[in-house]
Amino acid sequence: MKDWIKKNRRALLWWGGLALLLAAAAVWILVRQAAPRGSRAKIVCGDTAEFYSLAEDGVFGLEADPSIRFEIRDGAIRFIESDCPDHICENAGFLSRRGETAACLPRRTVLTVIGGEEGGTDAVAG
Ligand SMILES: [Zn+2]
Repeated sequence: MKDWIKKNRRALLWWGGLALLLAAAAVWILVRQAAPRGSRAKIVCGDTAEFYSLAEDGVFGLEADPSIRFEIRDGAIRFIESDCPDHICENAGFLSRRGETAACLPRRTVLTVIGGEEGGTDAVAG
């Protein structure tokens, strides 16, 4: 047995490496599935929280601060306009997975993608 291992060491290492790679891929897929697509967006602006459905495409300004604007498209949401100095929020791009977050710190606004069962009522949409 020991001799066999010695003789086939190279092959064992190769197959072992391949198995590890496959295991890593499986874990990666599982992790991806653990963060499913969100169905709603929670936007906290200062002291108020607003909820929007990601099912309806559109462009809108926040109720609390209409100068901060968002776009929803294909179940994803992004900052498109904010008069902050850095525009980091706009560079965050589209968010669609549960738990993903983008923030506009100068405007005290945080966007988070959530699942349907979280948060308050569907106060506003579109
Ligand atoms: Zn910003």
